[in-house]
Amino acid sequence: MEKKFDTICAHAGAEADALTGAITAPLYFSTTFQYTPTGDAPTGNIYSREGNPTRHLLEKVLADMEFGLAAAAFSSGSAAAQAAFMSMTPGDHIIVNNRIYSGVRNMLTDIFIPWGLEVSFVDLTQIQNLENNIQPNTRMVWTESPTNPEMTIVDIKAVVSICKPRKIMVAIDNTFATPLLQHPLTLGADLVMHSTTKYLGGHSDLTGGALITAEVNDWWKKIIHIQKVLGAVPAPFDCWLLLRGIRSFVPRMQLHVNNAKKVAAYLQTNNMVEKVLYPGLSTHSGHAVAAAQMEDFGAMVSFLVKNGKQAAIAVIKKLRVFTNATSLGGTESLAEHRQSAEGPNSTTPENLIRLSIGLENADDLIEDLKQALE
Ligand SMILES: *Cc1c(COP(=O)(O)O)cnc(C)c1O
Repeated sequence: MEKKFDTICAHAGAEADALTGAITAPLYFSTTFQYTPTGDAPTGNIYSREGNPTRHLLEKVLADMEFGLAAAAFSSGSAAAQAAFMSMTPGDHIIVNNRIYSGVRNMLTDIFIPWGLEVSFVDLTQIQNLENNIQPNTRMVWTESPTNPEMTIVDIKAVVSICKPRKIMVAIDNTFATPLLQHPLTLGADLVMHSTTKYLGGHSDLTGGALITAEVNDWWKKIIHIQKVLGAVPAPFDCWLLLRGIRSFVPRMQLHVNNAKKVAAYLQTNNMVEKVLYPGLSTHSGHAVAAAQMEDFGAMVSFLVKNGKQAAIAVIKKLRVFTNATSLGGTESLAEHRQSAEGPNSTTPENLIRLSIGLENADDLIEDLKQALE
């Protein structure tokens, strides 16, 4: 029987163990596994960098959640992104959305451009920019949607329709959207990336990443080879914690989104707010595309404060229910002045506050923002 999305998540790592009947999957810390002198591994396991039963269980669940054929788990979202870029060859060209998570942009600028990758940073909210930047050596397009932290929307189907005929791979960082709300592989993308540190872990207590593929082809085999030989793999305990987080992912995410909608609607009524950046608002420039390609609009809300940078920083200092911290996707609501967090190469507006909306009572979040904006 084909399991529905909520069932896949609720059962993540919670199928009765054949040996003991245990309902939650055992955690295998062993780094090494018995095999035969001729090199056969009767259990499929030899050495934990290359493969570990707890990690394999997680990878199966992640592939199912994204409707992919296979998944590779990494020690962080950044390590997952690194493996995707490393799967290119020096001299290859990739097109990357110019408004994405600053850590990935910095990774490209500081590491992969010197390594030999050609990178064009392009505004992919305007789809004609994609076609204008394609070169004979273009191999991959990389974007988020919604993007971090400005919450712009890229039309994934439109990107795919331009890339597919030219055999250019489409890779989507689906961290903000989450697998509950957006399925890039179903929209035609080739690869999905996650920082599982965020909503999938869901409790701000593990660092992890993943790549999920639509097809098991030579490109995917190279990514798996990179995972195994470079070894940026998650510890078994983090895989186990992540499986635990995934079991409650659906109801958590639904609550995150409900709260985010209430907070975004409130912020729109506050006259100290210049603009609310949330794709669920009908005034948002990407609203129609987001409504078409997402089941719902996510739980990250950014907004621009009137009177510039110092005013935005003053608001954050007054928050009491929100904590001033980076990251996202935990049960607790977080706020940050994103330009300060991103550092000197930031392209983020100086008066932007990014909110990760948690699972508190929405009225408490709204009251907190109200007193801070006064
Ligand atoms: C956090 C994040 C990353 C990086 O993931 P890490 O687990 O911190 O390495 C990449 N992309 C997006 C959209 C993120 O929010």
